[in-house]
Amino acid sequence: MTQCSTQHPDTATGAQGRVVVVGSLNMDLVARVPRLPVAGETLAGYTFTQVAGGKGGNQAVAAARLGAGVAMIGCIGRDANGASLRAGLLAEGIDCAALGESASAATGVALIVVDEAGRNSIVIVAGSNGALTPEDIARHEALLGSADVVVCQLETPPETVAAALAAGRRLNKTVILNPAPATGPVPREWLALVDYLIPNEVEAAALTGLPIGSPQEAAAAAAALREQGARNVLITLGAAGILAATEDGTMHLPAPKVTAVDTTAAGDTFIGAFAAELARRSSFDTAVRFAQHAAAISVTRAGAQPSIPTRHEVQAFAV
Ligand code: ADP
Repeated sequence: MTQCSTQHPDTATGAQGRVVVVGSLNMDLVARVPRLPVAGETLAGYTFTQVAGGKGGNQAVAAARLGAGVAMIGCIGRDANGASLRAGLLAEGIDCAALGESASAATGVALIVVDEAGRNSIVIVAGSNGALTPEDIARHEALLGSADVVVCQLETPPETVAAALAAGRRLNKTVILNPAPATGPVPREWLALVDYLIPNEVEAAALTGLPIGSPQEAAAAAAALREQGARNVLITLGAAGILAATEDGTMHLPAPKVTAVDTTAAGDTFIGAFAAELARRSSFDTAVRFAQHAAAISVTRAGAQPSIPTRHEVQAFAV
C-alpha cells in the first residue's frame, strides 16, 4: 500500500477530542427496482445512485459531523471509486494520512437493489478493504496514540481487527467494537480488549446464539457477553432504543419517538456519535443520550451518509 497525505484537520475545524476509525470504505451502487430479481432474471431498474458507504466510512463521517477530530485507517483501490471516497472524507474534514491504496485490489463496493416495498438485497465485495493488514496498524501506531477513542467493525480482515483492538488497549485508548456484520461469535480474547461492545439485535444474537426479541432477552445476551469478558455492552434495538449493560448495572434506554423514513446507517450514526461524545470526555449517560438523538434524526431522512446530522442539529433536537 502507498499512502495519501493531507493536513491534520483538528485545528481547522475546532473539533474537540479525537476519534480514529479503523475500518471499511465502500462505494454503494444502489438501484431502485420494481421487485427483487430472481435467479437468471434481467430486470429494468428505475434509478441508479452511487453513494459513499462502508461501516468504517459511515462511522467516521458520523463522528466528524458530530464534533470530533477524526482520522481514518483504511484501504481504497487505485480507481475512480477510491478517489471519490477519499474526496468525500476530506470534505468532512477527516484526516486521510493513513488511508492507503492497494495496487491490485479494486475499492470495496456494495451492490444494492431496493424494491418498491423498501426491501433490499445486498452483495458486498470487500476488495481493497481486504488488503488492510496488521502491518498497516503497526505503521500507524502514532496515529492511534493520538486518539481518545478507537473504533473498529468487522468489514476488514479479522487479524487486522485484532491488531487494532490490541493496539488501542495497549495505548490505553477507549476502544469500541461494532461487531458488524453478524458473522457468529468473535474470538473471546477480543472481548477483554474492548471497552464498549456495540452490536445490534441480529449481531448480538449471532455473537451469543441467544434469541433477542425483547429488552429482557437483550439483557440476557448482554450478561452472557459480559461473562465472556466484555466490560460494557450496548445492544441497539432499533426503535426500541438501547439495552446497556455496564459496570453500573443494566438499563433499557428507549429511543426518542420519531417518524422513521429510512433506518439505513442508524447504527453507524449511533456509534460515530457515541465515540465523538466519549472523545470529548462526556459521561456515559450524556454520550448515550446524544447518540440516541443523533440516530433518531438520521432515521427521519433518506440515505446512509446524507442522513447523518451535524452537532448543531442534534443540540437543537435535544432542546
Ligand atoms: P442498525 O442500523 O445497526 O441495525 P439499529 O436499527 O438498532 O441499528 O439502530 C441504532 C439506533 O438508532 C437505535 O438504538 C436507536 O437509538 C436509533 N433508532 C433506530 N431506529 C429508530 C427509530 N425508528 N426511531 C428512533 N430511533 C431509532
